[in-house]
Amino acid sequence: MRYLGLIPLLMLLLCGAARASVPSQPTLVVAIVVDQYSADLFSEYRALYKDGLATLARGVVFPRGYQSHAGTETCPGHSTILTGMRPAHTGIISNEWLDPRRSRQEGGAQTFSWPCVKELDEHGVLVVSPKTLLVPTLGDRLRALDSNSRTVAIAGKDRAAVVLGGKAAYLTLWWVPGKGFVTYANATVDAGMQGKVDGVNRKVETAYQSAQPPKLPKQCEARTRAVAIGDKHSVGEVHEIAAKSERWRATPVLDTLTLEMAKAAIDTLQLGKRKAVDVLAVSFSATDYVGHYFGTEGPEMCAQQFALDATIKDLLSHLNRTGVSYVVALTADHGGLDIPERNSVRGMPAANRLEASLSPDKVGEEVAKEFHLSGSVLLGSYFANDVFLAPSIESKLRPAILDAVRRRYAGDAQVARVFMRDELLTAEPPSGPPDQWTLFERAKASFNPQRSGDLVVLLKPS
Ligand SMILES: [Zn+2]
Repeated sequence: MRYLGLIPLLMLLLCGAARASVPSQPTLVVAIVVDQYSADLFSEYRALYKDGLATLARGVVFPRGYQSHAGTETCPGHSTILTGMRPAHTGIISNEWLDPRRSRQEGGAQTFSWPCVKELDEHGVLVVSPKTLLVPTLGDRLRALDSNSRTVAIAGKDRAAVVLGGKAAYLTLWWVPGKGFVTYANATVDAGMQGKVDGVNRKVETAYQSAQPPKLPKQCEARTRAVAIGDKHSVGEVHEIAAKSERWRATPVLDTLTLEMAKAAIDTLQLGKRKAVDVLAVSFSATDYVGHYFGTEGPEMCAQQFALDATIKDLLSHLNRTGVSYVVALTADHGGLDIPERNSVRGMPAANRLEASLSPDKVGEEVAKEFHLSGSVLLGSYFANDVFLAPSIESKLRPAILDAVRRRYAGDAQVARVFMRDELLTAEPPSGPPDQWTLFERAKASFNPQRSGDLVVLLKPS
């Protein structure tokens, strides 16, 4: 599925202080991210929200917000939220990019893979790290001003927690299947908090070992309609989800457990109650997994929206009970399109999944044949916007090969535009209203000279 960039919304609410006659300065900034929560979803369900999302919707709402950069994925999207910078500056150009200058061995094979929040440690082992984030987060800035300030970032995904928290976060926690919520290998967690983490993780483990029963709110029933994906699989009907399965993540329980961990951190670390401004960043991941596995317009997403509404209510109620004056914002890292199979049923004949022939290894092999070379002229096998020419290609051949790759991608019906590294490198940064930016300007907002590819390939939305 391709992400749609034109979407995340922002809701802001001043709580605690807002109820007092003389508002006090907030001592806690709460940033909630709902992964893949498009403004389309918000508009669709807004009238049905009764709990936390209804409360936030009574604050300041920007219902047609969107991400203006090109690579609207989880890691770059989250990197923009608490830094105020686009991926060109955060350096987080995609969920995973390749670094042709840093080859390494994995499982006996040479690879250049470089996930967005991972670095090699001194033993050559890939570990989760905030080092790839090139700019400070809000928490980093507060910490630089006041060493007493604490930032806590908690998410269902490592990349979400890491780039929301930043390098100076007091505590960064993310969920790992079978392990529960974990932090950096070299992090120190104070004993009281570690005890709480262990306690929540026992609940996480019990839940992960349990099948998730189907729950379908009455308002979602009319959405039930099976849609086939290939010969063996269908979505559109809510079923029990097996314990320890990949789809376990696509049930509300992942958000519920993320919330449990956030509540434990709020209480144990006394967020907002010390002489400093603290930051709590929580990214709820289940909406994204529901979108990926089941699409955005079925009963599965409907059930998730009701569960999310309750989860946000639980978080706000907990914050209110602390008596802390806090400001809360809710936004998304990117949006999402419905599955092409259902879009097709609904009269969008162009809706389709990405052709496997567009993967860089396939295109790279095609072009290699043109030049009588063996193997692939491109790195990697997973399609991402950034496409890298193999470092082994000799320099005198590179311009002609790059042009052949450009023509191959540009001529494909699923490709919107292809841009060359050199044209992006020399272009002025975009300015003016971002909603009027061209695809080239959006690509420039995602272009980082040290990390971006030799070509940037942007797909058509479908
Ligand atoms: Zn995401």
